[in-house]
Formats: sequence, C-alpha cells, structure tokens
Amino acid sequence: MSDFLKDGLARNYLAGSWVEGDAGAHLAVEDPGNLDHVADCAKAGEETLAHALNAARTSFERGDLADMAPSERARLMLRIAGEIRNIADEGALLLCRESGKTLDAARDEFIEAAQYFEYYGGVADKIEGKSIPLGPDYVDYTIYEPFGVSAQIVPWNFPVSIAARSLAPSMAAGNSTIIKSPELDPLALAMLGVALDRAEVPAGSVSILNGIGADLGARLVASSEVDQIVFTGSVPTGQHILKSAADTVTPALMELGGKSAAVVFDDADLDTLMTSLQSGIFYNAGQVCSAMARVLVHRSIYDQAVERAAALANGLSVGHGRDNPEHTPLISAHQLNQVETITQAARQTGARVAAGGTRLDRAGHFMAPTILADVDPNSPVAQREIFGPVTCFTPFDSEADAIALANGTEFGLVAGIFTRDLARAHRVARKLRAGQVFVNEWFAGGISTPFGGVGKSGFGREKGLEALYNYVRTKNIAISLKG
Ligand code: NAD
Repeated sequence: MSDFLKDGLARNYLAGSWVEGDAGAHLAVEDPGNLDHVADCAKAGEETLAHALNAARTSFERGDLADMAPSERARLMLRIAGEIRNIADEGALLLCRESGKTLDAARDEFIEAAQYFEYYGGVADKIEGKSIPLGPDYVDYTIYEPFGVSAQIVPWNFPVSIAARSLAPSMAAGNSTIIKSPELDPLALAMLGVALDRAEVPAGSVSILNGIGADLGARLVASSEVDQIVFTGSVPTGQHILKSAADTVTPALMELGGKSAAVVFDDADLDTLMTSLQSGIFYNAGQVCSAMARVLVHRSIYDQAVERAAALANGLSVGHGRDNPEHTPLISAHQLNQVETITQAARQTGARVAAGGTRLDRAGHFMAPTILADVDPNSPVAQREIFGPVTCFTPFDSEADAIALANGTEFGLVAGIFTRDLARAHRVARKLRAGQVFVNEWFAGGISTPFGGVGKSGFGREKGLEALYNYVRTKNIAISLKG
C-alpha cells in the first residue's frame, strides 16, 4: 500500500497518481480510542483541485466512461469490487484506528463498498430510456445521460461505504467524479484509490482529494466546472452548499441528518426491540444519521422498556475498536464535548438519566451508552441531532399521539415501528414522515433499498435503482420522418 501512504503520509489520488497537494500543513489523524497519532494526510489546495477538475472534465469529454460500452463499464465496476475486497483487511485496520469503530465494522464498510460496485455494475448496461409514440411521422425517445463532473462530499462516520454509495452509481452512469474525503478520518477512503488504480479506472475519471471542508470542500462545490453535487453530512453544511449551488445553478443531492424515532406499540416483542436498540443507537457509538435517536413507547409497557434498555446500555462491553467491543469511542474530543453537553442539559428539561449520561473515565473519546427517560418531546435533546450513543424515551397513549410525536421534529430520515399487528404497521408506516420505515428490525433493508430524507434530512435518494436516476439527466430526442 506504499503507493498511497508513504513515510506516514497519506496522499491525494489525482488522475491516476498519488500527489502531495499544495495546501500546506498536513492533517494529523488521531486514533480516537487511545489518542495515538495514526498518520498525516496531505491536503489538496487550489492548484491540486484545478488539476483534478481539469482531469475530470478531460476524461469526461474523451468519453472514458460515458462512451465505454456499457457492458465493459459493468466489468470495470466488478473489477473495482474485487480489488476493494482484496484491500478490505488492510483497509479495515486503518479505518478502525482512524475512526474508532470496531475492526469488524470497519471490514464491513469495505465489503459494503464492494457490494455497491457489484450492484451498480450489474445495472450499468440497463439504464434504458423510453420510446414515446407520436404517430407514424416521428420517432421519439428518451435517453439518460451522465451529468459530467460529479463533486461528492463525504462525512466521517462511514467514509468508505458512503463514498462508494455515491461513486458507484455515478460511475455506472458514466460521470467523472471528484470525492472530498472527511478531514477527521481520510485515510481509509484515500486507500480506496488503491483499488481504483489496480482495477485500471481511466485516469482522471475519479480523484479522491483530502482537505478541510470550508476550504477545499467549499471551493469544489462552488466551481463552475462541476455539473452535479452530492453531499452527505450535516444540515448547516448542506444549507451552505445549497446556497453556493444556487449561484451556479448546479443540481445537488442532499443526504443530511436525522432524529429518527422508533414507535413501540403495546404488543411489541421487547427482545426484538432490544436487539434493534443495540444496533440502532450503539452501533458506531450512535454516530449514524439513521440512528434510533428517539424511542416512543406505549405507556402500558414503557417502564419495562426503559428498564431493559438501561440494563442493556449498562452491560455493553467497552474498548478499543480493534478488540471488537460492543461500544466504541466518538470520533473526536469536540464530538464528545457536544454530546456530553446536550445530554447533561437534558436534566434541566426534566429528563431522567436511566443509564450513562457522562463521558467515561478512560483514554479516548468515550461517552457512556446513555438512556434518557421521560424526555419532553419539545426539549432540545429530543429535537436536535446528538450524533452519539444517547437515545430519548418518551411514552405515548394512542396511535395518533405516537404518529404526531414521531413526526414532531424538523427531520425525517427513517422511522421504525415495533408491533405484531402488520395491519397497524402498514397503516402507521404510511403516516410517518420519513424516507424509509423499518418494521420490527431497525436498519432492515440494505444497499438495494432506497434511502434518503424528508424535511431537513434532505432530498434525493441513495441506494437501489432509484439512486441511479440521481446521477443522470433525461434527454428527449424527437425525429421527424416527414422530410
Ligand atoms: P459535516 O457537515 O460537518 O461535514 C461533512 C463533509 O462536508 C466533510 O467532508 C466536511 O469536510 C465537508 N464540509 C464542511 N464544510 C463544508 C463546506 N462549506 N463546503 C463543502 N464541504 C464542506 O458533517 P459530519 O460531521 O462530517 O457528519 C455528520 C453529519 O452527517 C450528521 O449530521 C449526519 O446525520 C450526517 N450524515 C447523513 C447521512 C445520510 O445519508 N443522510 C449519512 C451519514 C452522515
């Protein structure tokens, strides 16, 4: 892997080569599980970005991907998938160290990234248009064209799989792509360039640049050389990018934050709920956009549910990600401070701390797995995205109350329903303001099921066939046969 990481310095993958970039001081990447220094990362500045934009445009105009026979593009993507699988073990070690997540979760990210290339590789030659009947004197049809240069900004919570989630459909559609890695854990994503390179992607069709969001990210999305923006991250950054995209009238896909609720009816299986709660709010230390951030429980089983959730939280094993514990650190000291502050403030608005509530006294950015009970649904802790291992329990009395509470934030990413009554599940699912509803299993679904937000959770969909149509635009061709 020395090609991307040399003498402790990770570099930018630019038009098929590894370059240091021109943005001065390197990023120092820390291990959140023990505060060790992992590596430095070279940053791309104005000149490197200009080079990447130029290479992306040249590759697109040369038709490197867009004019490649679709079946050949499909094979290229399957080769990429294979190369990602080949680097998964080594990549997982790096991702585990830089992000704090478990080694198993880090490996799963690489495998999921490979699966995106397999899935979209399988549809690269099936992006079919329509023939539209205009009578005997015309032939009319639509085709789906790539946009051109797609700029993709990636967050730190799942840097490898989220990057692949957008890059794979973008490539399948024939776009050139420039990815901006997250500054807190850029290393494993930079390593994806190794797989791209070994699979022999056309030079310039994909670049992965490292740098600060407000600098490199802002310059990338503001460039008039960019034809489409894909942003996954927080609401304030998304709003900022949308304002910039308005200036250049560039289409943008927004995958933003969430405050998703599980609605637990009186006939729910509490064992099933606890299994979902563990993955829903404690996987990746709760740093998941679609985390189970609120749990609304029918009053008749509320006390029992809170008690079981508290026991679950208190019983989780804690440690460095390389040992695959059940609970891992947050990404940074800043993130830990934010999570602890909002959790502490919840007491002032009447919340009861049933488990956790503070940071853990050990090296690394560890927040205790936290269950807040009796949370006022209008309080900040119930309304704001916390992005940590903290969930909020609130009781409800009727189905109508539950729906109103679940829909009572400005977000709408996912929602969950726990009940044995599938007629009720179907009825309530239709009323929930969310892009995806899980019934009896949080995170049910996968790479083939469309995912995205409502309200401030964003717009557009990733995953599945639906996502492919975010990466193309429709052209109609009308041919007169009269002459
Ligand atoms: P963030 O908004 O701080 O940063 C996301 C990315 O944007 C980073 O790469 C950052 O460098 C870049 N950035 C920052 N300022 C920028 C600017 N002015 N112009 C261009 N780029 C800029 O978010 P984060 O803290 O990295 O990630 C956590 C957030 O992401 C949470 O809100 C979470 O819910 C959300 N998220 C959403 C999804 C989804 O699919 N809906 C998935 C994962 C994370």
